[in-house]
Amino acid sequence: MQITEKQLALVNSRIEALRKSGSFYGRKYIEAGITRVDTPEDFEKLPFSEKSDLRDAYPLGLMTAPEEEIVRIHSSSGTTGKPVIIPYTAKDVDDWGEMFKRCYETAGITKEDRIQITPGYGLWTAGIGFQNGAEKLGAMVVPMGPGNTEKQLQMMQDLETTVITATSSYALLLTEEVEKRGLKDKIKLRKGVIGSERWTKKMRDRISSGLGIELYDIYGLTEIYGPGIGINCKYNTGMHYWDDYLYLEIIDPKTGETLPDGEWGEIVITTLVKEGAPLIRYRTHDMSRIIPGECPCGSCYPRIDTIQGRTDDMMKIKGVNVFPNQIEEVLAGFPEISSEYQIRISHVDGRDSMRIYVETTGDVDFADLTRRIAEAVKSKIGFTPIVKAVEVGVLPRSEKKAHRVIDERFE
Ligand code: ZN
Repeated sequence: MQITEKQLALVNSRIEALRKSGSFYGRKYIEAGITRVDTPEDFEKLPFSEKSDLRDAYPLGLMTAPEEEIVRIHSSSGTTGKPVIIPYTAKDVDDWGEMFKRCYETAGITKEDRIQITPGYGLWTAGIGFQNGAEKLGAMVVPMGPGNTEKQLQMMQDLETTVITATSSYALLLTEEVEKRGLKDKIKLRKGVIGSERWTKKMRDRISSGLGIELYDIYGLTEIYGPGIGINCKYNTGMHYWDDYLYLEIIDPKTGETLPDGEWGEIVITTLVKEGAPLIRYRTHDMSRIIPGECPCGSCYPRIDTIQGRTDDMMKIKGVNVFPNQIEEVLAGFPEISSEYQIRISHVDGRDSMRIYVETTGDVDFADLTRRIAEAVKSKIGFTPIVKAVEVGVLPRSEKKAHRVIDERFE
């Protein structure tokens, strides 16, 4: 999807704002002598922005609007090193709310709905993002935040919540609790908006049938507003994203070259109107593709495919590049196991080994099951893992991002 004249003009206004502010990226642009871009080719030559830059700019180096215009900051939960701080102007907060409102509308959610918000509030963008969008839509918000499952289920029944917003692991946990307590007929949920992690089709089906709801995937990252920059419509043909606010490219993560529509690679995002912390060609490390053609819903907004994982999820095991997604796909072919799993990679006696833990019920022949899974994984990735089966419920459930892959080689 080549950048349009109109989008180029917006990029130029952002370059100008960066240079004028003397912010972290403003100084970089001045040093590199970059003043403007006139063609798509010029644009593709602009340097990438990286998460490591954002850390170097800590705490407020990204601030591009005058401080008196900054109304809020958010921070991404860095697992390693310094966090990243993103300043927002009132307009940024408003634009984000508009995008999020569009997400709800695309999912067929209206102001008649009651939206229970379970992602966390605070420095990160999740809870408050879901809330801003819902208020702009005019829906009734039930701002629960994470955890306290007992109270979540009580409020869900008493307030007759119609929409649940959650991470996929928390939605799964709620599904299991609803089933355990026989609440399915007592709740009024009709839709779920699920964000922030990769999930398998199996998990999706489990949540959808367990709660009796339609599910929507929402996309976003703190560096670029937060969740709400894209969502799938009811045709479920990928996620529409808002190209009047953002320009998306797909690049080859190794060479940095921009790839044609339809090809898989890394999502790179440029904010077109952001004031507090504009980002140009920000590398997300999320793997997807731009879906060519039009969606049956008739929306004019372009689409990206479901996120296939992260460029840095790629594991090199016994010299082979492996994505957790490939293992997930294999596991999805085994109806006798649950949607939870754990992958552990270790280095023993000079050799890499991969152990996969799966959950199943006691009436399955563990030995036979694990042998068949090991064979299926081998045919997909080229080497045989050690597969271990445990009883359903043994593997950790998480109310936050699930950590399903544990690489013990570097610990
Ligand atoms: Zn559509």
